[in-house]
This record gives sequence, structure tokens and C-alpha cells, in this order.
Amino acid sequence: MQKINVKPGAKLVDYKAYGSLYSSVLDFMEQAKDPIESLKGRTIWMINSTAIGGGVAEMLPSQMRILRELGVSIEWLVIEAKKDAFFDLTKRIHNAIHGSGNGVFTEEDRKIYEEVNRNNLSKALELINDGDIVVVHDPQPMPLAAMIKKEKNVSIIWRCHIGLEEDTDVTDAVWKFLEPYTNDYDHFVFSLPSYVPKPLKNRTSIIPPAIDPLSHKNRELQLHKCIGILYQSGILDDHKAILYHRYEHLVRKVMPDGSFDVLDAGQNLDLIYRPIVTEISRWDRLKGFKELMEAFIKMKLDNRKYGDPKSLEYKRIEMTLLVMGGPDPAFVSDDPEGKEVLKELTETYKKVDSSMQNDIAILLLPLDNPKQNALIVNALQRTSSIIVQNSIQEGFGLTATEAMWKRKPVLVSNAAGLKYQVVHNQTGQINPDPTDIESLAKTLAYMLNHPKERDKWGFNGQLRVIQNFTLFSQLLSWLGTLSANKV
Ligand code: UDP
Repeated sequence: MQKINVKPGAKLVDYKAYGSLYSSVLDFMEQAKDPIESLKGRTIWMINSTAIGGGVAEMLPSQMRILRELGVSIEWLVIEAKKDAFFDLTKRIHNAIHGSGNGVFTEEDRKIYEEVNRNNLSKALELINDGDIVVVHDPQPMPLAAMIKKEKNVSIIWRCHIGLEEDTDVTDAVWKFLEPYTNDYDHFVFSLPSYVPKPLKNRTSIIPPAIDPLSHKNRELQLHKCIGILYQSGILDDHKAILYHRYEHLVRKVMPDGSFDVLDAGQNLDLIYRPIVTEISRWDRLKGFKELMEAFIKMKLDNRKYGDPKSLEYKRIEMTLLVMGGPDPAFVSDDPEGKEVLKELTETYKKVDSSMQNDIAILLLPLDNPKQNALIVNALQRTSSIIVQNSIQEGFGLTATEAMWKRKPVLVSNAAGLKYQVVHNQTGQINPDPTDIESLAKTLAYMLNHPKERDKWGFNGQLRVIQNFTLFSQLLSWLGTLSANKV
């Protein structure tokens, strides 16, 4: 068991850092006062299985910094597990909660599961006091809190970051396997209502995943900075002559040497500005990249066939660029499937009509430097006109939230998480079937040719994120759950 040290970061009172979000920060501080008061004297212990990598490890430090600044006593423990068999088992549990695998869990599995958790118990008991609250993230440390509760008078909560919309034999089997522990828990937190297994429904709060608006991936970046980042990272290399950007009142064309060529502001902005449609994701078949590329090509071909070459609509679609970005496989050694999917996509791209190849970019984002990676994602999202997340399955698509936060209209599939995040016709478009190339092509063309609606959807999207999906709304939900009589 390891206690993780979290260093202080930007202060809530730093209005410069929060910019336009500052009034929401003030609201948050006001609304947080009462629940925080009621937590006085209790320490909250967050327990998970890794200090680096994955969404939990990414978000915990930001959450802890803010709560500590407001006077909450909160600590983070990571369990130690030296056994491969343990992680094989917890991966099987994870997959089964997603509905995959054979759903078979044996008494031998239970022995391994409990033994590793019991090895972490004595250290936990040294640190945790009567009256404290223990929050366990995901299945790995689940038995541990139940063991702590047998020794100390603590409240225990299980935070599940995964889920499947429907019950299957496999999900039934895994919940049965976990029942001896879930029986001991006081409360549960899931990301979506449809992920909650029936027996836990009465003891569950829903808290969707959130973004940190001050992280490198989400912080404000002015357009010239975005372009600088994309140039420095070499990403614009093949496209430098074709990217145009609106900047203040002027339209500037980015020149091959990185300088700006100022164009006449009197010219029609829509014709000069080259719209970019972007999807950024892991190279996973379930992210729907191939279908998106096919739809993009269909949109262009239909436009050439049926459009009026003199019309603005025709020119806009003709000029649009598709960017598909994902991790450079050179840095992802543990994902052989990702390499395969990328290869398939590149092969399909090579067969694209040469007149269209310049309109499609497949970008490999370096992963060796997390800050640089985050800034590149930020810059790509901010320079796009539409962000797509064409997932065939998606628990909760952080990329859609990141895009909405940046005032971008989104085009998503109706995968479970995405249809909860996006409001159709208000913050973007939900295309019901990500494999229906025809309707995807039509929706994309519609969005491109309705710039006013795009602006409105982008605006609404940012509001929706501020109200529901930032760190602050998430922390208020947490404080509500922790301070209510639930625990
Ligand atoms: N991401 C990234 N670099 C990449 C691809 C993805 O930083 O090359 C980020 C993306 O911005 C998002 C996260 O990885 O924050 C993916 O989360 P999401 O919920 O969209 O999908 P998941 O990968 O969890 O299925």
C-alpha cells in the first residue's frame, strides 16, 4: 500500500487562470461550503490500483488539490499487488462488467482476489481512523474496503468507472461474484444510470466523468498558439500550404515557413477559411474511424456529382479537410490491436482517389511527452470546425466533452455515453448508426453548410459542459453524496 503525494497547483482564487470560468468557480465555492462543513473531522481516503496512467490517476490530483484548498482532508492510497494472476483476474472482472469474456469465476479466483487485498490491509488500518470515508475505485481494491469496515467504523463507497447498458449472462455472473463485497458497501457511484446493476440501484449516485478546464488538454489557447504548436510538432508539415485561419478581424494564410500571409478581411471568410473535421481517439475499431473516412469521401463525391460548383455550399465541402489523430504506435507497446487498426486505415487511405488524398490526414501523436501530447490534442480540437466521435461503442467519450468545452459542435453516434453527453440539435448532431455511411455523410454535409447552427451548438455545448461535466460540477456531486445521509 502506497500513499501518494499530491503537490499543490493553481489556486481557486487565481481568477486569471480560470478566465471566463471564474464566476462558475465562485458559485462552486459558495455551494461547496455547507457540505464541506458537514465533513469536518472525517478524512476521505481514495483507493485505486495505479498512480499513473488511466483516467482515475489523471483526475484524482486535480480533485484533491481543490478539495484540500477548501479545507477537506483527503488522501490517496494505491494498493500493491505483485501477482500477475491478480491483474489477470481483475482484467477479467473488468471485461465481464463490459459484457465480454466467459463470465466464469472460481473459488481459486476469489482466493487470489482476497489474498492480494488482505496483504494491503494492515497498512490501511494504520492510516484510516473511525469515522473516515473510504472511496474505492474500480474492481481491483474492492474487497479491501469491506475488510477495513470489519475492523473500523468507516463508511465505504465503490466508484465504478465502467459499465454496460444491458444485463447479460456475463454481467450477471460477475455481479454475483462481487456480491459478497457489494453487500458490505454503504453506497455506489456509477457514470450513467443505465450502468447500475439492478440490486444496487437504491444505493447509487450518478456522477459522470469530467474534465479539468485548467489541464494542458483543455486550457485556453489562442489561435496563433495552436498553430505554433501544430507546426512545432511537425503535424502541419504536409498540410501547411492548405490551412487557413481566421484571426481577429483579419484572415491569415499560414505560409510554409510558419509566417502568416494577411489576406483581405473584405473577402468572403467562408471561402478562405478551410474547415477541418477532426476525430481523435485510440486506434480501435470501435472508434469508427474507417466509417468516418468512407462517409467523408462519399460526401465529397456526392458534392462533385450533384453540387453546383459556383455555390458557396459546394466550395465549402470541396475545401474541407478530415483529420484523424491517434497515438503513435511506436510509443504504445502494449496495444498490438492498435497497430493493426492503424494499418487497415492507412491501407484504405492509400486506395483513396488521388484527387482527395490531400483532403485527408492521418496523424500520429507522440506519447512520450504527456504535456506536449495534451497541447497537440488541445490545438487540434481548437482549430477544428467540427469534432466527430463516431464510436460504435463508448462508455463515456471524454473527447466529446473536451470538444464541447472548446465550443465545438460535435457529431457523435448514439453509443451509450455519447447520447448522454450530447443533446441532439442543441450541442451537435447524434447520428444513430455509426456504420450508416450515407446518413453520416449527409449529417456532416449539413453541419458544414450550417455555420450559424454550428456556432450555436458550440456555444450550447460549452454551457452544458460547465453545468455538468467539469471538475467543479463533479466535485459538487461528490460533496453532495459524501455529506448526505448516504454515508
Ligand atoms: N487522447 C490523447 N491522445 C491520443 C488519443 C486520445 O490524448 O492520441 C485522449 C483524448 O483526448 C481523451 C482520452 O485520450 O482525453 C480518450 O478518452 P475517451 O473517453 O474519449 O476514450 P477511451 O480511450 O477512454 O476509450
